[in-house]
Amino acid sequence: MNFKTRGLVIREQHTGESDRIVTVLTHDRGIIRAFANRARKLNNKNAAATQLLAFSEFGIYRSRDAYIIDQAELIEVFFDLRGDLEKLSLAQYFCELEMLLAPQEEQAEDFLRLILNSLHILTKGSRPGALVKAVFEMRILSLAGYMPDLVCCDGCKVYEADVMYFLPEKGKIYCPECFASGMGGAVALGRGPMTAMRHSIYSKADRLFSFALNEAGLKAFGEAAERFLLCSLDKKPATLEFYKGIAGEM
Ligand SMILES: [Zn+2]
Repeated sequence: MNFKTRGLVIREQHTGESDRIVTVLTHDRGIIRAFANRARKLNNKNAAATQLLAFSEFGIYRSRDAYIIDQAELIEVFFDLRGDLEKLSLAQYFCELEMLLAPQEEQAEDFLRLILNSLHILTKGSRPGALVKAVFEMRILSLAGYMPDLVCCDGCKVYEADVMYFLPEKGKIYCPECFASGMGGAVALGRGPMTAMRHSIYSKADRLFSFALNEAGLKAFGEAAERFLLCSLDKKPATLEFYKGIAGEM
C-alpha cells in the first residue's frame, strides 16, 4: 500500500551503513516510524528531506511490518535553529514532547501545527524562548487531554483576583480567600501570568503567541507550565534537563 503525507521529522536514528529510521509527526496519521534507506548518503535524493526538523512531503510504502519512505520532498527545514544551541535544544524538547503526547495512526493536525508555529517563532526570535516553551507545554498537554481548569477559583468560582494560586498537581486555581496554607506546591500567579496561562490553553491557534509578559510574569508563567507538565507526565523528558543546562537555568 502506498500513500502520501506531510509531516515533520521529530527523531532521526541511524541504522545499517547509510540508512535512517525516522519518526515523523504527520498531519493525518499522527506519529509514524519509517525507514529511509540510504538516506545518509550525501547524494541520496531523500537525504535533506528525512533529517531532523525537516518538514516534508513523503511518499510512503507500507509493507507487512514497516513503513518505508519511497520519496521525500523538502517543504521547509528549520536550519537556522542549528546555529543556536539553546534554540536547538528547545526544538528537540518540543520533539520529545510530541513523541510522548501526540497520537499514533490518527490525525494530528493540531499537534503538527503547534510545533511548526513554535519552530517558526523560535527561528524568527520574535518571542523569548522561555515564553515559547511555556505556551508549548500548556498547549500540547491540553491537546493531549491534560487540560487544567483555569476558568475560575475552584472554591468560590470568582474569576479574577490580583493573585491566583495554581496547584500543578490538581490543575486548579484558587483565589486568596479559598487558598489554604496547607495546599503545598502552589504557584502564585499575578494577573499577567494568569492571563498567559488561560491564553495558552483557550486561545485560537493563530493567536497563540500574540501576547507579551514582563520578566517576573514570564518567570511565574514558566514555572507554572513546567510544574504542570512534570505533574502530568510519568517521566521527566531527558531533553528538558539538557535544555535547562544550556539555558543556564539549573
Ligand atoms: Zn475562591
